[in-house]
Order: sequence, then structure tokens, then C-alpha cells
Amino acid sequence: MPREGWVVIEGILVDHEAAENMLECTRQYCPLEAGGLVLGLRKGLYLHVTEITRPLPWDRQSSMRFQRSPKGHRIAALRRWRKSGGKMDWIGEWHSHPGFSLSPSSIDVRNWRHIVSQRKAAMVFPICDGRETAFYLQSWGDRGKVLLRQFEKDELGTFYLTPAAIKRRLRKTGNEAFGPAVKFL
Ligand SMILES: [Zn+2]
Repeated sequence: MPREGWVVIEGILVDHEAAENMLECTRQYCPLEAGGLVLGLRKGLYLHVTEITRPLPWDRQSSMRFQRSPKGHRIAALRRWRKSGGKMDWIGEWHSHPGFSLSPSSIDVRNWRHIVSQRKAAMVFPICDGRETAFYLQSWGDRGKVLLRQFEKDELGTFYLTPAAIKRRLRKTGNEAFGPAVKFL
């Protein structure tokens, strides 16, 4: 049986509520960085982001850095997990770069790799600048991270795919179906 971390994640679904919460939280704490856990469900090849946690009094916030304390967020995650009957999972971590960049710093990337190697499963790491959010997928067992691309949007959430998954879909269905807006890496 393959281990959990070997699952190649193709994309994520982000509930609008969770996305709105990140934007609002980023604006509220600007110019300080904010952040927290990303909670949701693992559904085969996809991660479904349903909730995020907000900064807590134990976290350290500055305009250069957000350092999450393990304490409160872990309790929040555990509570959600119990409430969901063990389905809700810790699937990532988000933080803000208020007004400066959607790209991760070298410290961010190092942290992501560390978290994923401990968790032994792919996770999602959103960065929010207060206007939009970039979603990075960090896989376990390879050093790479990929920037996910927006693919579809409906009333519940937005669907993002890895560039590789988009290419596969295009190969199957033909380029025209998705219009010229899809760019390749
Ligand atoms: Zn950062």
C-alpha cells in the first residue's frame, strides 16, 4: 500500500469563506504579518481547504515575519478534527506579506519543507498580500514547490490545479476548451 505522502496532489479546492477570511485577516493586521493553519480535507488527488485559523496572542507578529506558536493553533485544529469525526485535517499553513509580495522568502520555503517532511504528506501554503492569495503546493519527498493556477470558480469555492495537471487535462480535451487565458510555465 502506498504511503500517504506518495499521493501526487493534482490540485486544491478553496472555499470562498476560507479565502475571504485570509484576505480580511491580512488587511486587519497590516502592516504586521499574520498567519495560521490551513484546515480541510484530503480527497484523493485533491486537498479541500475549508477553514483557516487566525493569529493568536501567543504568536509573534512583525512587519517582516510571522512566527506561529504551536499552542493555540494545535488546540483549534484538534477541536475541528474531533467535531468533524476525524475527517478534518491540518493540510497547510498560511501567512501574509501585507502589500509586498506573493513570493515566498527563502525562510518560508525552508519552513515549508521542514513541515512537510515531518508531516510526510503534501501540504498547501498560501501567501496573501491583502489583495490576492497565491497558493503553493509543497510535496513530500521532493524539494520542489509549485504555484497552483486558478482553474475554475463556482458559488462555493475556487479550484486550483498544478501546471502539470492542467497540461494533462489540455492534452486530453484540446486547448480550445479552456481558452487562451491558460499559460504554461
Ligand atoms: Zn513570508
